[in-house]
Amino acid sequence: KPMIALEGISKTYPKSTAPAVQELDLHVPEGTISMFIGPSGCGKTTTLKMMNRLIEPTTGRILLDGDDVTDVNADELRRRIGYVIQQVGLFPHFTIGDNIAVVPRILGWDRNRITARVDELLHLVGLEPKTYRDRYPRQLSGGQQQRVGVARGLAADPSVMLMDEPFGAIDPITRERIQDEFLELQQQIAKTICFVTHDLTEAVKLGDRIAVFGPGGKLQQYDTPDMILTH
Ligand code: ADP
Ligand code: ADP
Repeated sequence: KPMIALEGISKTYPKSTAPAVQELDLHVPEGTISMFIGPSGCGKTTTLKMMNRLIEPTTGRILLDGDDVTDVNADELRRRIGYVIQQVGLFPHFTIGDNIAVVPRILGWDRNRITARVDELLHLVGLEPKTYRDRYPRQLSGGQQQRVGVARGLAADPSVMLMDEPFGAIDPITRERIQDEFLELQQQIAKTICFVTHDLTEAVKLGDRIAVFGPGGKLQQYDTPDMILTH
């Protein structure tokens, strides 16, 4: 059974004539990384955002571990799906700890549970909790902020992580290191991950599967990197 199933998904934005995503069928297996690749404007981000209902599809349905996402309430969806974007979007006036705690606070976790979880997550992404939990985003490098973004996405231990060019704004040398760390992290957490990139090298390096998007928001291929590169 797939962790995420998109069935006949299309999206046409209001006031737009051409669809952003067309007749998309996609079954994402549990515990795998699927890389969404393709030229700009072919519907990758739109597809990702429909999975956590930041955008509603025009037609079709999306199942999360068998549940239609339209039947899952907003808090439950936040708990089950983590979201990481390129412009990390850390709140500048919140400490690192408070940034990571955003979703647990919304979910009403008690203070001790939140504190313990923040430290556990900082440790997981390679930032010493004592050193970093009370700092502010501007005191961290871009690479470190991105790790905080990943920690925040993982905060409520979601089964699915949606990542939209998470390493896109990081310099190429640091990016390679962060990609390696990310693969090591995935060995431990084994999440079902959908990851948007426009970098084929990144897609091949990180992906168990690659979803190739084309003009008009059509899914052209969904297969292993080996199959994508040879067909
Ligand atoms: P990608 O992530 O592959 O670059 P997007 O999903 O961002 O593609 O965009 C797909 C298409 O939908 C593009 O033509 C884009 O201009 C259009 N689009 C994206 N967001 C909106 C929006 N909020 N309103 C109208 N059109 C949009
Ligand atoms: P990373 O590999 O995580 O991106 P860098 O190599 O860029 O880290 O940074 C190395 C060290 O420099 C880190 O310990 C970080 O705390 C510090 N540092 C980087 N940028 C800043 C900054 N803007 N303000 C304070 N410290 C910084």
